[in-house]
Amino acid sequence: MHYAALASGSKGNCHAVSDGGRTLLVDAGVSLRQIRERLAILNLDAASVQAVALTHEHSDHIGALGVILRRTDWAVIATSELRATLRASRGLDIPPGRWIEARPGHPLDWNGWRILPFSVPHDAVDPVAYRIEAGGRQMAVVTDLGQPTALVADHCRDLDLLALEANHDLDMLREGDYPPHLKARILSRVGHLSNGAMAELLAQVLSPRLRAVVLAHLSEANNHPGLARFAAEEALRGSATSLQVAHQRNPIALSVA
Ligand SMILES: [Zn+2]
Ligand SMILES: [Zn+2]
Repeated sequence: MHYAALASGSKGNCHAVSDGGRTLLVDAGVSLRQIRERLAILNLDAASVQAVALTHEHSDHIGALGVILRRTDWAVIATSELRATLRASRGLDIPPGRWIEARPGHPLDWNGWRILPFSVPHDAVDPVAYRIEAGGRQMAVVTDLGQPTALVADHCRDLDLLALEANHDLDMLREGDYPPHLKARILSRVGHLSNGAMAELLAQVLSPRLRAVVLAHLSEANNHPGLARFAAEEALRGSATSLQVAHQRNPIALSVA
């Protein structure tokens, strides 16, 4: 199984999971052109993309959806509430024939892959993260959550690869230039995960099976890759788990054999 972070951060998010034959995207927050270019950079076949699983309606996760609906035949995995919100507030209509309903807590079968959406605490309409099982490998993409709930931790156990939000360093956010209301939003229980909370979750779910961790959705204003990495290394100390940091503009890929 191959995993790629094509883009990650507040300016756009898109992850790809591929078994070599077919590819699923998680979120589409950068342009279709960028998605295709970044897949090509990683030697992943853009023609193998068959579906995109959406986590929530924030622009950095659905920015390319309109173009995707017009120019591709990809299926769209989304909760019914997200679908209704996209139609009502953005005029984005996912046709019934292309829609695969995501029901939090209920795994769905997608061409032999098992895709499990699960709820995360975030200030959006019915936001989810995804756990994906294919070819005997388990991966999860978990971003945009204010806190690591017990439910989230349960779904992050026994994974081969975990892409996990490390949004901000608490001190950088508190002392930074963001207006108070924005700081309060990010820090809230339905905001974004701090490096400290990320490390806490990692320590809880660490197992010998966990081969790779990818830190995702880093804030460019309120975090440094080095700080996020340091926090994660502390949690992973003594394990053989590899650690990478996803980037806003430069795609990264890794394989879990
Ligand atoms: Zn986001
Ligand atoms: Zn969000």
